[in-house]
Amino acid sequence: MDPGVTAMETILVLLHTESDGTLARSALETLGVARALGMPFSVGLAGADVQAAADSIAACGATRFIGVGGAEFAPSRYSTDAAAAEALARAAGATVILAPATSRWNRVMPGVAHRLGGRADTHATGVSADGSLRVTRWYYRQRMEAVIERAHRPWAILVEGGCGEALTGAAGTASVETIAVEAQSRTEVEGLQSPKTGQQTIRPDAELLFVTGAGWSKNQADGKPHVEEAERLILGFLDATQASLGSSKSLVDLSGEGQAVLGFLSHLNQIGQTGATPRHRKGLATCCHGEEPHVVGWRFVTERRAVNLDANCGWARGKADVVYVADAFEVMAQVNALLR
Ligand SMILES: Cc1cc2nc3c(=O)[nH]c(=O)nc-3n(C[C@H](O)[C@H](O)[C@H](O)COP(=O)(O)OP(=O)(O)OC[C@H]3O[C@@H](n4cnc5c(N)ncnc54)[C@H](O)[C@@H]3O)c2cc1C
Repeated sequence: MDPGVTAMETILVLLHTESDGTLARSALETLGVARALGMPFSVGLAGADVQAAADSIAACGATRFIGVGGAEFAPSRYSTDAAAAEALARAAGATVILAPATSRWNRVMPGVAHRLGGRADTHATGVSADGSLRVTRWYYRQRMEAVIERAHRPWAILVEGGCGEALTGAAGTASVETIAVEAQSRTEVEGLQSPKTGQQTIRPDAELLFVTGAGWSKNQADGKPHVEEAERLILGFLDATQASLGSSKSLVDLSGEGQAVLGFLSHLNQIGQTGATPRHRKGLATCCHGEEPHVVGWRFVTERRAVNLDANCGWARGKADVVYVADAFEVMAQVNALLR
């Protein structure tokens, strides 16, 4: 077959349920991506009980629903996740597997593709089928965009969150064919340990990304740092807006070294070349200089604003739509007061 020829594709949308049995937004986005291809597809579901999830997308246009269910498929665990994904792909006879790039599927799909004798591509930001199947993804920390095709099948494609329209209004009653899988695992999941932040501050679905920079920890006009006040202002704003919290590398590095800085930050919050590249509609940077290795992580943030004391900061040089030259402590205190 020529590279990327689609005529004979058998597409499987591979999803897992969340702990409450629902499907995450990224799963619905991947379904949206599959539908937009305009080709028949089936849906494969894995989880403790997949019926409710299948019902929530019964009218998505899938030709077939297949499921692997049972308590052993509830937690994220390599052996059981990989076994479920492999069984579903085989049952569907899939030549193309579209899966949301969740931590669960990201971890197992390259291995599953190997078991199936296939190939896997991660971080897909777009999938199209105009005569041939093509995947769009970025390279070199989001600096170069490439469009790729593959002749090899099966082809597992992990679709990044925030890159497609989430499917809505497709609830109904789905008839799910159960696929039996013998789940053997030496790994027992005892529970979940969250990062040391102790507070959930990363919210990929939030409208707004709020970014904190090292300025929050630096000496201010009175010659002293005001870290406790910074914590109060930042957490107050996050509480009121449910924004997602990002940070510059400088600030999370300070936290990592155990210095008395914002205790709720970890490296997971870092945005940039060596951090995350989130896809929020709006972003507000505070006390952050706006250097290139940081701003490259803002690639997909549509509307950017920054608060900085320095009128010559990086944001002011074409990297933000609006820069407020002001003291972020004063600005955020006022903003929080207005929000209250
Ligand atoms: C290979 C490499 C990879 C890197 N990867 C990343 C990355 O992934 N992410 C990342 O963030 N960085 C990365 N960096 C580091 C990056 O180059 C910068 O050093 C870092 O982003 C600077 O962080 P900052 O802007 O918070 O701190 P600073 O540069 O110290 O800036 C602090 C800012 O706070 C402002 N400020 C202080 N007080 C106030 C106040 N009261 N009100 C308003 N503003 C105030 C100051 O004017 C200043 O602009 C990388 C560097 C290298 C070499």
